[in-house]
Order: sequence, then C-alpha cells, then structure tokens
Amino acid sequence: MNGPVSKRASGIEPSVTLSLNTKANELKEAGEDVIGLAAGEPDFQTPDVIKESAIETIRAGDTRYTPAAGISELRREIASAYSKIIGVDYQPSEVMVSNGAKHCIFNALYVLTDPGDEVAIFTPYWVSYPEMVKLVGATPRIVELDPANDYKLTVEGLKNALAGTNTRVILYNSPNNPAGIVYDRDQIEKVGRFLLDEGILLISDEIYEFLTYAGCRHYSPVSIVPELKESTVVITGVSKSYSMTGWRIGFALGNREVIYRMGAYQAHATGCPNAISQRAAVTALREGEKDREKMRKAFQKRREMLSGRLSGIPSVKYPEPDGAFYFLVDVSALYGSCGVDSSTAFCDKLLEEAGLLLIPGGPFGCDDTVRFSFAVSEETLDEALNRFEEFVKRYAE
Ligand code: PMP
Ligand code: GLU
Repeated sequence: MNGPVSKRASGIEPSVTLSLNTKANELKEAGEDVIGLAAGEPDFQTPDVIKESAIETIRAGDTRYTPAAGISELRREIASAYSKIIGVDYQPSEVMVSNGAKHCIFNALYVLTDPGDEVAIFTPYWVSYPEMVKLVGATPRIVELDPANDYKLTVEGLKNALAGTNTRVILYNSPNNPAGIVYDRDQIEKVGRFLLDEGILLISDEIYEFLTYAGCRHYSPVSIVPELKESTVVITGVSKSYSMTGWRIGFALGNREVIYRMGAYQAHATGCPNAISQRAAVTALREGEKDREKMRKAFQKRREMLSGRLSGIPSVKYPEPDGAFYFLVDVSALYGSCGVDSSTAFCDKLLEEAGLLLIPGGPFGCDDTVRFSFAVSEETLDEALNRFEEFVKRYAE
C-alpha cells in the first residue's frame, strides 16, 4: 500500500475562497490589523421573519429526516416561484432541494456525466467548478474568454473551443463569480441555440440571480430559449439572495428523470437537506422579497463606492460588474515593480505590507487578477481602499 489516500482524492486541495476567508477571520481574532475583502457571502443578518420560522419549526418538533429531494411544501413553492421567474412551467417533480447550490451542482455533474466526458467551463470561473468536475470523474475543459473583451462569450469562440472535443456539458454562471459579469439576452440566445443544435447539456448556476445593478437584469437561459428546459439544470437557492449561506439550502430545476436520479443519489449520499432550513427557505420564498431588495440596494451602493475609487487608480483595470458582489481587477501591471510573478504572490505581499486580504485570481483561471468582494460594510470598504491605494502608490512605476 502506498498510503491511505486514494489516487483520486490525493489531487483535491481545499477551496481557496473558503480557506482565505477563514484565514482573514483568524488573523482578526488574533488581534492582527487585517482587513479582508475575501468574503463570498452577504454580511447581513438573515431576515428576522426567516429566523423566526426556523425557531418555530424547532419548537414544533419538526426536526426529523425529510424526503430525500426535500419537503413537498418547499418543492411546490420553488416550482411555483420559478415557473413565474423563469417563465416556463416547472412541476414539483422537476425541482429538488440540496445542501446549498454547491451541492446541487455536484449532484447535477454526477448525474449528467460519465468518466471521460468533458465539461466546459469559461474563465473566469468559480474555484470549485474544475474540482467538482474532477471529483465526479469527468474532465474539465477550460475555455478562455478574453479579458480585453470583458470576457464576452460568443458562439464563434465557443465553436472553436469545443470543436473536436468530447464536451457533454457546459457549466455556466451568470451573474458571475468572480467578475460580476452578467450575460445579455443576445449572447444567451445565441449560445442557447448553439447548445440545442449541438445536443450539449447545460448546468446554469444562477445563485446570484437577484443581485444585479445599474438597470441590468438577469435572464435564465431557459427564459430566453424555453426549449432548453429539458437539457438544462438550473441551479439557485437562498444563500446569496436572502443572506442564508450557513443554512445550506440550494435548489435544482430540470428534466424530471435527471431530478429523480439526483434525488436518488442524494438519498444515498447525504440523506436529505436540513429539515429546519427547508422550512426557513419556504418563508424566504414567500415573505423575503422586501428584505432581499433592501440588501440588493445596499450592495449597489457599495458597488458604486468601490467603482468610484478603483477607477481612479491608473495601474489597474477591470470589467464593471453588473451583478454578484465582486470586482475582478487586473493588477498585473504592478507585478514587476512588486517583484512578484503571480496573483498569489501579489496577495501575500499585499497582506504582509498593507494588511489587506484579497483573493488571488489564479484559482479562478485568471492569474493577472485579484478579486475584491464588496460584501462588507462601507467603513470596511473605505479602509480597504485606503490601504490598496497606498500600496499601489508605493509600487506604481
Ligand atoms: N455558485 C457560485 C458561483 C458561488 O459563488 C457560490 C457561493 N458559495 C455557490 C455556487 C454555492 O452557493 P451555496 O452557498 O448555496 O452552496
Ligand atoms: N462562493 C463564495 C466565494 O466564492 C463562498 C465560498 C465558497 O463556497 O467557495 O467566495
């Protein structure tokens, strides 16, 4: 025996986003003068009405296992809400609940792919995508989008990138983490038709669906090309929209057979999602809209603040984010003068010298960049920007 860890598991590394967020909190707790813009989660409290419904659920003793794919009340609520939001009819049997959107993506990848199948992922991608694809035994195919063109996704680019490959699934995310890109109707329609023509399946990660700004809005590909419904698994949930990241509830909507198999897989792998959180998610969908909008407006204000300050720094560039709560900023013009050759080394230096923690863009497939999160208070953002500006001034040539 070579050691206790299998070959498959020995390639898995911890999530950079989760571990750097933990690191920022640990440094702060240890009394270090550190500001972290690493957060990939809203900093707001979960709205009271949602918390209360969870407390009531516990008091009522509703704390047992639930059906593997989720309680019927929540599945019905999701089906009804998303039939309206997406504009295509979904039945409760075409909907399931898992422990967060992340878990839904994993289940979908497991059910849609076999070993050897390729899953196309576009840069900049969320850190967990390639790892999840590898974990289910499929192969990630990274499609590089051009930062000079604001990472625009075109059918021509896609055709070239996928020609002669064994791509079975596209794993797509809009509004996007880490760059806040929101694909427009026209792009989505063209890409959607291409996928239909080519018989390629789609996993559409729409977890930031309600967080869009400056008049921009999110469209699910299924809204624009309804024929995509059967070949698409839409992923969303309550984590970002209702500030419920720790409650671990995500939703998947798709073809009945696919959802059935995802439920069967989940039944053996994790049993069921948390009973209390499922009740809370019903309340979020029924009563959470006002709070959701209040939080979105607060994010919008912070986005403007960050944009106003970053746009005044000549050595950096970035696409203006229309959604989510991140800026992906190209800092590579500073690498030479900082004496670093990667986003990770840049972030290490920034932390050491300025006490500011950002997430390096390397693990998102864009090593020229760093990710700023604006899921922090305006005061924190202001101080973080003071530190960043000062650091850049020191090294700008
Ligand atoms: N997709 C993206 C793009 C994300 O940023 C996140 C954040 N963790 C998730 C999925 C997972 O969300 P959840 O917390 O509901 O698992
Ligand atoms: N999605 C968030 C982020 O990118 C949360 C952390 C994680 O689950 O990766 O920071």
